Amino acid sequence: MLKVGIDIGGTKIAGGVVDLQGRIVEKLRVDTPIDTGALAAAVVDMANHLRARHEVSAVGVAAAGFIDRDRATVIHAPNIAWRNEPLKAVLEAGIGVPVTIENDANAAGWAEFRFGAGRDVDNMVMLTMGTGVGGAIVIDGALFRGGHGIGGELGHMRFTRDGLPCGCGQNGCLEQYASGRALQREANAIADAGGIGTALAALRAEKGTISGPAVSRLVLAGDEGAVEALRRVATALGEACGGFQAVLDPELFVIGGGVAQLGDDLLEPVRIAYETSLPGYGDRPIAAFAIAELGNDAGLIGVADLASAEG
Ligand code: BGC
Ligand code: ZN
Repeated sequence: MLKVGIDIGGTKIAGGVVDLQGRIVEKLRVDTPIDTGALAAAVVDMANHLRARHEVSAVGVAAAGFIDRDRATVIHAPNIAWRNEPLKAVLEAGIGVPVTIENDANAAGWAEFRFGAGRDVDNMVMLTMGTGVGGAIVIDGALFRGGHGIGGELGHMRFTRDGLPCGCGQNGCLEQYASGRALQREANAIADAGGIGTALAALRAEKGTISGPAVSRLVLAGDEGAVEALRRVATALGEACGGFQAVLDPELFVIGGGVAQLGDDLLEPVRIAYETSLPGYGDRPIAAFAIAELGNDAGLIGVADLASAEG
């Protein structure tokens, strides 16, 4: 049996036909339109294109927002202009098979749990570090959804009091300190303060602003300023994980999203901050950390697996 999974990311929409073992049979990618109408049309087009070429029983669509318990409505999206958007109905009108909407981080976390870095554990927390910070919680082998379907929004846990404003309407959320955007902001701030090493300041002077991928390249090249920017966001994430450990006691944290491409350069400072924030450290069992194995495909694989032919 085949299903279609489509992951709406900040810059790309990735869609694929996925089999029951989580293998991708065919994959497509297009740029994400900014206008929400054009975005829905692009998802419908992609689903229909894939459906025309494969026998597909259901379509799953992963989106960055608070999805209701019926997995039909985007209640709120901190970084997209959706407010109580009936996305399932809008997409089903154009697609013609049942559509399941799922939070993007839940989808990615589920894929890692079923087929990736988390396949050998029962209790796992996934954090995605991209435009925002996404969260997925797997408890005793089941995806935790909460009472209204919108639990596990780990990026919107308050990380600091009186902190930076967040797209969710609050301030001080973890997302503002541990996302790809935060990494970019820290790198630009370090450049403006004169750089710690010269490459960041030079890049800022040349380009006006330093992009996320540019920061990552400099981290991998060992640039001191870029490494310091990464240390700041990794520390925020690791400290938050200490708190998540106290509440959820997972066996494993899986870190995904664009920043996770930095691999061990990211995980090392995350682990240090995690261990120094852990209640009962030294006496208690601690969690392992892993980089997501399925990369950019995790969202589409997970949402295809979660999509149901019953709608
Ligand atoms: C949203 C989440 C989403 C995450 C990653 C956050 O801002 O609230 O729903 O999973 O970004 O895209
Ligand atoms: Zn927030």
